This record gives sequence, structure tokens and C-alpha cells, in this order.
Amino acid sequence: MAKIQMKTPLVEMDGDEMTRILWGQIKEILICPFVDLKTEYYDLGLKHRDETNDQVTIDSANAAKKYGVAVKCATITPNAQRVEEYNLKEMWKSPNGTIRAILDGTVFRAPILVNGVHPAVRSWKKPITIARHAYGDVYKNSEIRIPGAGKAELVYTGEDGESIRQTIFDFKGPGIIQGIHNLDKSIESFAHSCFQYALSVKQDLWFSTKDTISKTYDHRFKDIFAEIYEAEYKKQFEEAGITYFYTLIDDAVARVVRSEGGFIWACKNYDGDVMSDMIATAFGSLAMMTSVLVSPNGQFEYEAAHGTVTRHYYRYLKGEETSTNPVATIFAWSGALRKRGELDGLDDLTKFADTLEKATMDTINAGIMTKDLANMYDGEAKAVNSTAFMKEIAARIQA
Ligand code: NAP
Ligand code: MG
Repeated sequence: MAKIQMKTPLVEMDGDEMTRILWGQIKEILICPFVDLKTEYYDLGLKHRDETNDQVTIDSANAAKKYGVAVKCATITPNAQRVEEYNLKEMWKSPNGTIRAILDGTVFRAPILVNGVHPAVRSWKKPITIARHAYGDVYKNSEIRIPGAGKAELVYTGEDGESIRQTIFDFKGPGIIQGIHNLDKSIESFAHSCFQYALSVKQDLWFSTKDTISKTYDHRFKDIFAEIYEAEYKKQFEEAGITYFYTLIDDAVARVVRSEGGFIWACKNYDGDVMSDMIATAFGSLAMMTSVLVSPNGQFEYEAAHGTVTRHYYRYLKGEETSTNPVATIFAWSGALRKRGELDGLDDLTKFADTLEKATMDTINAGIMTKDLANMYDGEAKAVNSTAFMKEIAARIQA
């Protein structure tokens, strides 16, 4: 059988530990037998990040900017224990943070649904994707513990020396205050990423804040989204048959729980932090959660939402068999191949991405899955190791 040809390379960002092992196997068993795979390879494994003083991470992000589509393996974010374990020169920053800063992107997290694994919310039939604004608010705050009576003020001084001043509170006794900020530019990038992603997956976009209470701060988010939508996306949304919908965060929560799913929910930084954990848990498993970083210029980086599965890796190193779930990483590859196919007009490649996903779901629906899923599965399930699972998928692609 002739292999499917590619035009532009994918930016391939290899990673660490158990997911690095899965990465190699996914390529060997599920992709290379069918596709004449073209990638520009960057080794983001911790050892190589250390050798290059983390330059490789920066180079890989710039390559993603250049080519437009990247696929990333999970990577270790070093802490003190990792600095010792890998004898690192420095406690390098989180690669995801570095890549996100360079692409100026928003992260979209979506669960992969399986028959036989039931969401905690009975009405959910389709995935709910969370888009979290990843800049500012309480994550870049300034806080003071107020010792006693006194006046707290909010003061802004312009470059011309003019200032704007507002009383926060006249304290009669001890308390606390907090200052937070955001940037029009960052909110605009967030809005563009959300609108672009909604168009790319053809799903409705919901956005929620608390603008009735935060009449200036949250209202600014609402206005920026509305202005950009009207000016640049309204027509495209209508053509795609999807809608943009703004509502208060408390109304959104109630609607989400009553919904069938199948939409994107854009959230401010804190709301997205909390809601993405809620959605992931309610849908079943971290091992079935995909993640894609979308830049406001329409560049895409696909990955699994979970980490490097360290505990399984240490068992693997001892020669024990592991049943690590490769589904989210397989879907990172299929997502990237599909996007590459769409951008390059390669129908065969887009179709292969669909086939790879369908073969994966068919395998699970046939009751063959990794241990983590088998434990949640309602029905006859055969738990197999990662390699056996992928071979089953490959057999279905072949068929
Ligand atoms: P993790 O790798 O996501 O794993 C946590 C636990 O969740 C695992 O021990 C396993 O539970 C279960 N799990 C996660 N993915 C699974 C899969 N595919 N198949 C089966 N079980 C799965 O999180 P972590 O242990 O907190 O972090 C490990 C390393 O990953 C850290 O160095 C961290 O910095 C890094 N990390 C990277 C990213 C990223 O690159 N995007 C994200 C998060 C964390 P059991 O052991 O009970 O089976
Ligand atoms: Mg969180």
C-alpha cells in the first residue's frame, strides 16, 4: 500500500518519561506504516533542554510559529527534586509556559468520550471544551495585609504625571486588599484564539464573566469580545452555522450542567482554572483529555493534557509491564495531522487522522483498553498493555 504523502513538516516536540516511550510507539505502530511522516524534530526531553540551556524549547516554539502546526509530548517541569535527579544546570521553566508565551496562545482542553464511560453529569452527550485565558488577574496580583485603621486607595499615575485615584476602603481595623490587572492586548489575543478555534471545530462559543458586579474590569472583557466578534467574525460564524453567546458566569454554570455539551466555554483565568478541573473530572479521566494551544494568528500546538506519568515510567524502567493510556497522545497526533492536511489541502492526510481516531474508538468499543479505562468501563473490558492496545488499533486501521 502506498503511504500517504505530506507537504509541510509537522513540528515534533518530543518529551519525557512514559509519554516519551509511548511517543516512539505511536509513531512506529500507528503512523509511520501508513504515512510518509515529515517532521521537524525537537527533543524537549529534560536532558536535552539542559544541554541546550533550554534553547531547544524556544527554537521549537519559533518553528511552530513558522510552520503553523506542532505536536508535543508531555514534558517534565523541573522542581528541586528533578534538578537533583537530572543533575540540571538550572531549574528550567515549564516548556508549556515558554511555548505559550512565544505563541501568545490560549489553551483549549477537550475530553474524548467513550461509550461505556459515563460522565458524572447525565445530560452530557458531547464534549465540553474549556478555553482558559492564561494571563493576569489573580495570577499576577499584588496583595497587602492591612495592619489596622487607615485608608486604602487605588492609584494610577500616567507617564505625564497625571493620576487617577479611587478609595478602595476606609479601614477601621485590620483586613486585606488585592490589586490585579489585565491588558487589552492579552484579552484581544484571547478573543481571537477563541473565535478562530470555534470556527476551526465548528462549535458554538460561550463566554462568561461577572460583569454585573465588576462593571469596569470584567465589562472590559465582555466589550472586547463583542467588538472583535462584530468586526471580524460575525459573518464567518453565520456562514459556519455557529453562534457566539455571552452570559454571566453563574448563568453559564447552570446552563453547562443542563446542557448536552458540544460547545466551547471561554473563561477568565481563575474561572478556567477551576472549571477545567471540574469538567475533566466529571467527564471521567485525565488520560482522555486533549489539549491544543491556539495562537491569535492561527497557529496550533496539540498535546495530551496529562503529564509524563512518572509512576508508570519507574515501573517500566524496572522491566515491569505498564498499561499506560496512549489515547490523548494519539489524538494529539491525529489533531495535528488533520490540521496539517486541512492547511495543505491533503484530503488523504485528513482522512487518515479520522481513521486513526475511529480505529482507536472502535478498539475501546470492542472492549479492549488500558487498565485505567477498564477500571471505569461499564461492560465487558479486557485490560491490555499499551503496546498491545496500539497493535489492536493498527490492525483496525489496516482493515
Ligand atoms: P501525570 O503524569 O498526569 O500522572 C498522574 C497520575 O494520573 C498517574 O500516576 C496515573 O495514575 C494517572 N495518569 C495520567 N495520565 C495517564 C495515562 N495516560 N494513562 C494512565 N494513567 C494516567 O501527573 P504527575 O505525576 O503529577 O506529573 C508527572 C510529570 O509530568 C511531572 O514532572 C510534571 O512536571 C509533568 N507534567 C507535564 C505536563 C505537560 O507537559 N503538559 C502536564 C502535567 C504534568 P496511576 O499512577 O494511579 O496509574
Ligand atoms: Mg487547576
